Amino acid sequence: MTTSVNKPAPVTPVLTKRWLSPTSWSIKTYEQLEGYTALRKALAGTPEQLVELVKASGLRGRGGAGFPAGIKWSFMPPNEDKPHYLVINADEGEPGTCKDIPLMMADPHSLIEGCVIASYAMRSHHCFIYVRGEALHCIRRLNAAVREAHEAGYLGKDILGSGFDLEITVHAGAGAYICGEETALLDSLEGRRGQPRLKPPFPAAAGLYAAPTTVNNVETIASVPFIVNGGSDWFRTMGTEKSPGPKIYSISGHVTNPGQFEAPLGTTLRELLELAGGMKDGVPLKFWTPGGSSTPMFTAEHLDVPLDFEGAAAAGSMLGTTAVMVFNETVSVPWAVMKWTQFYEHESCGKCTPCREGTYWLTGILERMVDGKGTESDIDTLLDICDNILGRSFCALGDGAVSPITSGIKYFRDEFLALCDQNRAAQNSPAYAGAQ
Ligand code: NAD
Ligand code: SF4
Repeated sequence: MTTSVNKPAPVTPVLTKRWLSPTSWSIKTYEQLEGYTALRKALAGTPEQLVELVKASGLRGRGGAGFPAGIKWSFMPPNEDKPHYLVINADEGEPGTCKDIPLMMADPHSLIEGCVIASYAMRSHHCFIYVRGEALHCIRRLNAAVREAHEAGYLGKDILGSGFDLEITVHAGAGAYICGEETALLDSLEGRRGQPRLKPPFPAAAGLYAAPTTVNNVETIASVPFIVNGGSDWFRTMGTEKSPGPKIYSISGHVTNPGQFEAPLGTTLRELLELAGGMKDGVPLKFWTPGGSSTPMFTAEHLDVPLDFEGAAAAGSMLGTTAVMVFNETVSVPWAVMKWTQFYEHESCGKCTPCREGTYWLTGILERMVDGKGTESDIDTLLDICDNILGRSFCALGDGAVSPITSGIKYFRDEFLALCDQNRAAQNSPAYAGAQ
């Protein structure tokens, strides 16, 4: 695991503040560093007060979409005619994204404390943490932390004498990217093949086992104990008005020190590059993604775009998972775009035609172009297929799949054309004519 160990200090050490402590994952260290103090405070109040607090903080979903967490919680019905569930989406799968697994490895109790508080707020007595199956080390660490929390009376029956009961189940996925989509995740949790469900109904109306359910990302829920202790005004001192709070940016690629860096929402790539020690070996930046490959790429022109939900969107991309992948001048854009598209083709669940067929054709065309056998009309065909996927697919995977292609052609059309020119030159060569 890469962490920010030996890296410059994070700008806002909130979620990552315990990461560098020895045995940061143990309950003993957690308790020594204010751990489970927020839970005591939360249980002394009412569920409604907690929902209002999270609403007032402006905390937005950290899984990529940025939906306001307190508003999502308020969709849960006030009655308990059916069991309520909190499901943590820990199926971190977006290319380049590496923030939830480091968080769970370094500080699993912040997630568990957040789960107990959020479950109390939503009157849930069973919480599931759905983790990528490949992250066995993380599943073991979470299970150990759940055991510790049970033994200390933070889980189970009558938590801290409050009368509130909660069990947490850590569930291993099986490595499908689509199971990070919240309704596919719920299908998978129910033991079925993970495929997205039609929304509405949203999970708060009919989620796990058709009961009221809230699905939240790991980083979102781990932020909750800090908000309970610090208050909503304190949380709003970081970030921007519409995107408050700190955020874990995972920086990978051609930087000197890749890893996780916590900084306020609205931090720019220029600032993040400083934290990450600059471009590796001083080779200039060519392109980068603000939030994984599903978010349209940026170039060196966008170094000063504020990386918050509004700033990234105003500049023509999305904040996504704040997975900042940095590429220097040595990387071919069509090649990188082909690799990402191969990923989406492989991970397409096959439920809807635009994505299932479209990603197949996109991959074939890109592979041919990168192989030097493309023609200029392939660029138009690529864009036409993208047009038929975007907004016409059943879930966000289809939309995400076209982002690298459309943005790659927008900023680096010449590179795609150069591949076609190579093919034209080869066809005009005497050797080609002789071979026909
Ligand atoms: P979405 O905007 O459809 O939904 C976001 C959340 O808000 C969901 O929980 C949804 O139930 C809720 N919601 C939205 N509208 C609602 C309404 N009207 N009523 C009640 N609830 C409502 O986005 P999504 O499809 O869940 O997620 C897409 C994002 O996921 C992308 O932006 C991408 O960045 C991100 N993503 C993340 C990963 C990862 O590894 N973390 C992987 C792939 C994609
Ligand atoms: Fe499945 Fe792709 Fe359609 Fe989503 S967009 S439902 S992943 S085929």
